[in-house]
Amino acid sequence: MTVTIDENSGFCFGVTTAIETAERELKKGSLYCLGDIVHNGQEVERLDKLGLETIDYDDLRTLRNARVLLRAHGEPPSTYHIAKQNGIEIIDASCPVVLHLQKRIRDTYQSLHGKNTGAQIVIFGKKGHAEVIGLEGQTNNTAIVIESINDLDKLDFSKPIYLFSQTTKSVEEFEAIVEEIKRRKAKGESLFEYHNTICRNVANRVKRLQEFASSNDVVIFVGGQKSSNAKVLYHHCLEVNSCTLFVSSEADITQDILERCHRVERVGICGATSTPKWLMENVKKHIENYGI
Ligand code: SF4
Repeated sequence: MTVTIDENSGFCFGVTTAIETAERELKKGSLYCLGDIVHNGQEVERLDKLGLETIDYDDLRTLRNARVLLRAHGEPPSTYHIAKQNGIEIIDASCPVVLHLQKRIRDTYQSLHGKNTGAQIVIFGKKGHAEVIGLEGQTNNTAIVIESINDLDKLDFSKPIYLFSQTTKSVEEFEAIVEEIKRRKAKGESLFEYHNTICRNVANRVKRLQEFASSNDVVIFVGGQKSSNAKVLYHHCLEVNSCTLFVSSEADITQDILERCHRVERVGICGATSTPKWLMENVKKHIENYGI
């Protein structure tokens, strides 16, 4: 039996940079993080032990003269305003790709502002997701968020549409939305501008993950219970390999799973964008050491 960890699984560079920033800044003194630094309980716990205290927006409003780290997802302008008012030093670990997208949306909003054209800035993303909250904030919360093609009825097709995407959405879904908007705007009476702002670091992840999953006999998918990205990617693995099992850590690996792994030749370990490499390595060791 060989156990291989998928080299494309795990943190993207935005999350890796945010975690490295947290580790570096913690050495200088007390540090808060606005929201979970990553959607993975084990990694949050590891950083918590190093002193990183996770806070929410209510805490931020009452905090004074402290240092607060902003995670890779980015934040709306209101967060920076609150920090300024409260004498909070911001350690900004927002991913540069997200900051660039925020700027594009802000520029579009400012160029349209006050023109009374009925133009709609539309964000394809998950309502309530931290990155989407940050993007909506660039438009003074006037942007329309669509979660899927089924939400397109929210739009007025007779008025201009400027479409952007949350960085982690699926390219195929984005393209389908673009085609549907074009179809509904078939009469061509108003403008439709679209920007594929899906992050290249994750855009081909599904394809690569499925190639990995189908090249193994048993796949152990390691992901956080709270991570929606983990659930989606797990199901993509399952589509191509019915022997895919979801675990949060080595503690979830039952005797039955271990025996299944040891009956086959190739075991693959993979995970979500929020799964730390060390967790996948722990799972690997746990499987390899069984019976020794
Ligand atoms: S934009 Fe890309 S690199 Fe940055 S945090 Fe999102 S997925 Fe990661």
